[in-house]
Amino acid sequence: MDSIYDAFTDLVEHSDVLLAVYDETDRLRLANDAFRRSFHLAPGETPTWTEIMRRNHAAFRGTAIKAADLEAWLTSTQSRRGKTPFRAYETDLTDGRWLWMTETVRPNGWMLCIASEITDLRREERLLRQDRDLAMRAAQTDELTSTANRRFVFGRLEALINATMLVPGNALSVCVLDIDLFKSINDRFGHQGGDMVLRHFTHLVHRFIRRTDCFGRIGGEEFMLVMPGAPAENCLAFAEHLLAEARAAHPLPERPAVTYTCSAGVATYQPGDTAASLYGRADRALYRAKTEGRDRAHLSAEALPVPGES
Ligand code: GH3
Ligand code: MG
Ligand code: MG
Repeated sequence: MDSIYDAFTDLVEHSDVLLAVYDETDRLRLANDAFRRSFHLAPGETPTWTEIMRRNHAAFRGTAIKAADLEAWLTSTQSRRGKTPFRAYETDLTDGRWLWMTETVRPNGWMLCIASEITDLRREERLLRQDRDLAMRAAQTDELTSTANRRFVFGRLEALINATMLVPGNALSVCVLDIDLFKSINDRFGHQGGDMVLRHFTHLVHRFIRRTDCFGRIGGEEFMLVMPGAPAENCLAFAEHLLAEARAAHPLPERPAVTYTCSAGVATYQPGDTAASLYGRADRALYRAKTEGRDRAHLSAEALPVPGES
């Protein structure tokens, strides 16, 4: 062996433990033989996590997905996957094997997945644990759009503020997005048409965000995007990109002439911020975007009030 790293690589490759590395766009970058066999990947192949799930689901192999709606399951899983530095859970494969899966995420969004087989372990309590995981998923997911819900996004925002406080100079920006004149979309195309626009916008955003970003529906036609590490200008530019994508889209397949727009308010973390104060600034910036004509993003220029002053 040339070095300790060669020895390590050799051990990892021949271990029965499944090991994989995903980058910040959720593309598989490295996987050992056990992982590739379990998820039916050819050597050297680097699909995204979504591609792996879709492909295996279509071939009735890989992860056992019990949800009736695959797309909803993918959105819900993706909106919560890799949002915390560490997560562990049980998961089963269509071949009957059970895995104990752990996900370790670095601040740059790269993720290490390690899974060990536990098929014969603590079998009796498994149903109970699975029910708990399903309940957790339901409590964190918005039913209509399948993305994360208000509880989940605000929970992550609080956790990220606490983490940002500890590292002076670290950026954290939030963007509140609201669909324009949504009432008139409902009026013209019915509540179902409105619902389709909400789902359309959710999928649109999911196509562009990175693992470290956290996105969810926080109200009727209001969404929040939390971008750790992003300075205000980057968040604003990204919001403008999303707005342009929405503007160019045709959300109702049966009425291809129909389009919609959104407005956005962006604010960035300042020392002393709470989730409520940061959200408040972004929401007031959104209000500005609305009053200035909608279909635009506004960056908050407000400073956080100094305690004791008014
Ligand atoms: P603005 O551009 O100022 O945001 O105008 P707006 O019409 O989008 O805003 P407003 O807040 O007045 O109306 C929001 C509407 O969204 C009212 C409510 O009936 C509708 N709504 C809330 N939740 C849902 C939902 O789940 N599905 C549908 N289809 N409509 C919803
Ligand atoms: Mg609106
Ligand atoms: Mg609104």
